[in-house]
Amino acid sequence: MLIEVLGSGGATGTPTPGCFCRVCTLARTRGVPYSRMGPSYFVHELGLLIDTPEESRLQVDRAGLTHIPACIYSHWHPDHTMGRRVFEMNVTLRSWPPVTHPTEVYLPQQVAADARAHLGLWEQLSYMQSRGMVRIHELRDGESFALNGWTVRPFPLRETYVYAFMLEGDGRRVLIAPDELVGWQPPAEVVGSQPLDLALLPMGLVEFDPFSGDRLIPAEHPILRSEATLEQTLDMVRQLHARRVVLGHIEEPSCLTHDDYLALAGRLQNDGLPVTFAYDGMRIEV
Ligand SMILES: [Zn+2]
Ligand SMILES: [Zn+2]
Repeated sequence: MLIEVLGSGGATGTPTPGCFCRVCTLARTRGVPYSRMGPSYFVHELGLLIDTPEESRLQVDRAGLTHIPACIYSHWHPDHTMGRRVFEMNVTLRSWPPVTHPTEVYLPQQVAADARAHLGLWEQLSYMQSRGMVRIHELRDGESFALNGWTVRPFPLRETYVYAFMLEGDGRRVLIAPDELVGWQPPAEVVGSQPLDLALLPMGLVEFDPFSGDRLIPAEHPILRSEATLEQTLDMVRQLHARRVVLGHIEEPSCLTHDDYLALAGRLQNDGLPVTFAYDGMRIEV
């Protein structure tokens, strides 16, 4: 199966408007893989889009996708949901009556509840459903669904409003966690008796520059209590024993360029961790 990284960025885009740091300047002058759009993945065999950041329409077009059969949301936060107008591609206005090819949109239980409370998510998805652009499916916790012979099982992380997804089929097991691993302990059913073929995880905050050791985030900053750090994420990686790990949701304030991530991945691999860092357009064969 092929998983394509449509966007490797996090809540902060790279480049960030108004920022002229080394990372943003390289992103502006060189583009991909130095620039990063918001967090989103496309699982080709399943026709499954995961999350719709603001740039979703541009990402889907950039990847040359002609239709999105299915989409699932990990949580309600704006960097994962604000590009939902991408589903307007499902209506052809050149004909009358309009021709529609709706996307099956899956909302895990708490995401569906949060959609009713935040950002007008439920209202907009319902509007698009009434126009034939999407069909909404609410999933109860513990409920899985099947796509092209694969099982997709959403499960809440320790931050229970955020879900990760287990994809199983064809003798393979893939874990995709778009965001928010803080405090998570990989449960036995995720680690499994058969190793994960791939774990696609958010890289976490860079508390210390991995090359100089300098502290990048003040120790008293509250974000260190609400989000996992890169070091904590690597501890989870050690517990997961996956054959391959790709780290995404890469934030601009981490102050590292694509070249830095290549060097860091090389160092982690030397330490025995099968880790690489995501970039926009990355194609992961599992
Ligand atoms: Zn995010
Ligand atoms: Zn910058």
